[in-house]
Amino acid sequence: MTEGGFRDENWLLYRLDYLWRNYFSDVPQTNRIYIKFGRQARYRFGSIRLCYTDNSTHIRINGLFKRFNIPTEIVDHTIAHELVHYAHGFSSPHPKMHHYPHKGGVVDRELYRRGLGGLVDFYNKWVKEYISNLSLFILFFPSYLVGNG
Ligand SMILES: [Zn+2]
Repeated sequence: MTEGGFRDENWLLYRLDYLWRNYFSDVPQTNRIYIKFGRQARYRFGSIRLCYTDNSTHIRINGLFKRFNIPTEIVDHTIAHELVHYAHGFSSPHPKMHHYPHKGGVVDRELYRRGLGGLVDFYNKWVKEYISNLSLFILFFPSYLVGNG
C-alpha cells in the first residue's frame, strides 16, 4: 500500500497471488498475467482480456477501488470473478467451458464451489447499498448495468 490512502498495483498483485494460491491453485497459469487499476468507473468493476499479439492476459480493476473506503472483499470479489473467467477459458489460453462467460450464474456458482461464497454474499449486500447511494440517474437504469465484465 502507498501513503495517502490509496492502494497501488503491488497490492493488487498481492491480492491476486493470495486468491490464486488459496482458491485457484488447480488452475495452471499458462501465460503472462497482468493486473492493473484502470479508469474510475461507476458501473464496471473489473474486466479481463487476452492480448492477441503476445498471448498475455490483462485484468483491469476499477480505479475507484484504489480508495480504502471500498472494502478489500469487494476488490477480492472482482479479482476472483475475473479468475473464474480465466479458469473457464475466457481471455485465457484454457479451453472454453461455456459459450457465454456469465450464462446461468456460472461465475457465482464457481465462486461458491471454490469456497468463496462469502465474497459473493458480501458483494451482493454491498452492491445494493452502492446502487442506492448512486445519483438519481441509476433509477432509470436496471441494476444489472452494475457489476463485473
Ligand atoms: Zn464477468
